[in-house]
Amino acid sequence: MKNQRKERKKRFSFSLLSLSCPRRIHKTMARDQVEVFPAEETDTGRIIHSYLAEILSTEERDFSKLTNYVQIYGNPEKVFSNIKGKFSTEQKIRIIIGGKTFTTVSDLLVSRRGERDIIDHKTSFSQEVLPSHREQLQYYALPFLRQGLKVKVGIHFVRYARLEWIDILQGLDDYARIAKQLMERIGKMERILGEVPNPEPSNFECKYCPYVISCPLSPEYFITDKKQAARLAGEYIKLKSKLKKMEDILKIWATSVGHIHLKDCKVGFNPSTKTVIDQEATLEFLNRHNIPITEVFSAQATKFKKLAKTYNDLANFAEIKYGTRWGVVSTTDEEKEEQERFSLNDAEEGKKKVGKAVEEIEKTLNSAK
Ligand code: SF4
Repeated sequence: MKNQRKERKKRFSFSLLSLSCPRRIHKTMARDQVEVFPAEETDTGRIIHSYLAEILSTEERDFSKLTNYVQIYGNPEKVFSNIKGKFSTEQKIRIIIGGKTFTTVSDLLVSRRGERDIIDHKTSFSQEVLPSHREQLQYYALPFLRQGLKVKVGIHFVRYARLEWIDILQGLDDYARIAKQLMERIGKMERILGEVPNPEPSNFECKYCPYVISCPLSPEYFITDKKQAARLAGEYIKLKSKLKKMEDILKIWATSVGHIHLKDCKVGFNPSTKTVIDQEATLEFLNRHNIPITEVFSAQATKFKKLAKTYNDLANFAEIKYGTRWGVVSTTDEEKEEQERFSLNDAEEGKKKVGKAVEEIEKTLNSAK
């Protein structure tokens, strides 16, 4: 069992190699439970990939299923009309290098005599070719380069019906260069795995990180100025109203259908208990046994205020204590004016307050590491 775990630790995937945050790498390798469900765009991406795999594996290449599902700005048929060869979708690619085995699944592999095309579908709205995309596709080419084949790698930007060839690779020089790069990556990965898994936030990586909720340095929660605090507060208000709506909808569902079962939990109405007191009988009992009424009952402010309207003297027994209560309230006109006149960050005192807050936030987030 121990050996098995050790073995598993050693197994890298190409996608893992493209990560750079040590915390995310450690958590991925340890197969820690993910904290967020896949975003809608990830789900959509998965569906688009499966439609393309289906479409491109037939002679007809009828794209209507895809175009009915998402808007494509262009003609997807044209993208592939000039590519000659045998199309294989979701083809397993395996390479053993430096004693390590890598496997991946290519979106589209086109085979011609002496040549291969490797095409990756990108379903996001961006048409940017990141260095990590280029690098990953080069790794996919390795087994074919070893066989002496010429390899063209490209990215298909699905939403724009555009194919961009990003590299043509051939020969031992290319093979040796890419293999060396891959070995260096593996070395870096092994170094990271031997170190403390500190988080290293990056806009791109954190956006898709499945461990973002507990991450102490996720840019989403690590706020250090007023602007970021305002953005987080905006998200919080949005989420609160969204939560209420979600709860209402789920309650309706659970009322008629029953519990909604997820992998490790269920959502729905669960049995609960409530103690109902016969107040009159209790009062009589307290009187009879000379037990102070406050042992059981405490005055309720709303009821008290209502009664004080009839018995004015009752108001003498109450006082208003000022404090704070967490929540979302509207800003008054005076407060708005004050905000315009005074910027907290401009004042020395204000800066100190922000510094103290950042320190506290850091402490809180670090305790969740
Ligand atoms: S949220 Fe960002 S910094 Fe935190 S673990 Fe994920 S990738 Fe790393």
